[in-house]
Amino acid sequence: MMYVQKIIDKVIADNPGEEEFHATVKEVLTSIAPVVEKHPEYQEQAILERIVEPERVIMFRVPWVDDQGKVQVNKGYRVQFNSAIGPYKGGLRLHPSVNLSIIKFLGFEQIFKNSLTGLPIGGGKGGSNFDPKGKSDNEIMRFCQSFMTELSRHIGQDTDVPAGDIGVGGREIGYLFGQYKRIRNAYEAGVLTGKGLGYWGSLARKEATGYGLLYFVRHMLADANESLAGKTVVISGSGNVATYAIEKAQEFGAKVVACSDSNGYIYDKDGIDLDVVKEIKEVKRARISEYIKARPNAEYHEGCKGIWTIKCDVALPCATQGEIDLESAKVLVENGVFAVGEGANMPSTLDAIDYFLEKGVLFAPAKAANAGGVAVSALEMSQNSMRYSWTFEEVDNKLKDIMKNIYENSTKAAEEYGFKGNLVVGSNIAGFKKVADAMIAHGVV
Ligand code: NDP
Repeated sequence: MMYVQKIIDKVIADNPGEEEFHATVKEVLTSIAPVVEKHPEYQEQAILERIVEPERVIMFRVPWVDDQGKVQVNKGYRVQFNSAIGPYKGGLRLHPSVNLSIIKFLGFEQIFKNSLTGLPIGGGKGGSNFDPKGKSDNEIMRFCQSFMTELSRHIGQDTDVPAGDIGVGGREIGYLFGQYKRIRNAYEAGVLTGKGLGYWGSLARKEATGYGLLYFVRHMLADANESLAGKTVVISGSGNVATYAIEKAQEFGAKVVACSDSNGYIYDKDGIDLDVVKEIKEVKRARISEYIKARPNAEYHEGCKGIWTIKCDVALPCATQGEIDLESAKVLVENGVFAVGEGANMPSTLDAIDYFLEKGVLFAPAKAANAGGVAVSALEMSQNSMRYSWTFEEVDNKLKDIMKNIYENSTKAAEEYGFKGNLVVGSNIAGFKKVADAMIAHGVV
């Protein structure tokens, strides 16, 4: 459709060099073209022109002092992308690769993902090019305090509610919250999610993204008369999402044979011992290569890409963007993969996704499949507003319902627009319509 292509070309021209942002805009806009065609009001009201432009981009200096007394400076970002259906909501990423393009891509995706959850949250994302690897606890704390000193001016429990992402887990959220509370002199617990259980965090938040991914994949498989029982599964990453994806996959009877970190991957043909992975990553904060010390029959291989050459039935990329390119997709298909579920954000390149769909691989896109994390974050906000907390089972059951609804809504939307079975198109359409209609209702703002 010409209108959609015009907007994509304009985004590329207006945001030079922002490749990740271009890719996600292209993916989303292309798949919602049939909706825009059916609803001329979206074009009349310039919804696409508005939705690709963040409501606000905040960039700031983050100075901090390292353990040697040397001053260090990092870049800080918060992109407040869209608040049509609720306060901006999305994680903070601490990784040396962070730049404006990556934060904008993540923020843009977050708009539709958050809409899909059915909960009242808008889209945002933030982070810094700070590298947490090899930093002491005190350095992490000083960085988080400096980052929050500036960020605190822009967020609030009804304005913008950050959470964790790569490099930001319970420890970092604790330091960020402590500094926010000190600056505001008020206990506004709902300003951040992913908090510790002792200070208004939600049970099942830590597990939510990984568990949610498996709940989603289970629905997708069930529709194809398949299940995870007895299947061989490869899961990349060994952080928050990967750990709890492994846990739930094992509970569903799958054999998870591999996981990774940014240095390399392990292959354990007998099935991964998750306690060993948790000890290395959650307790020691060490490298996954240490796994073979505890499990001498397992193999360790340097480099990340090789993980996709392992023969498996189901692949769940849970590390980072761009980890499955066309070449890896071809190897996976050749080796008999029949389902791929994205735990990470944009882990498959666009040509890899096209290849999976073309080959009839069941494909669960990130926006839908990993929405469980932000959904439980929104449930954490609800509990904070009530000053009350639900049990693990209560939260987990709500998560199950949410993932089921996301799966059904995405499936229905795909069918309605003639793309039966294509969850990429289905999730984009289902997420987009609610936001677009709210934007129209609010007038030109
Ligand atoms: P973590 O920091 O807990 O874990 C990330 C994992 O991926 C680590 O094993 C890390 O290895 C590896 N990794 C990170 N960057 C790279 C890279 N450039 N190349 C190869 N491996 C890499 O993050 P999360 O588990 O929270 O996030 C993983 C993905 O899931 C991200 O795409 C994130 O946006 C997405 N996501 C997270 C949600 C959440 O609730 N946490 C919600 C929805 C999506 P190493 O230890 O070496 O750094």
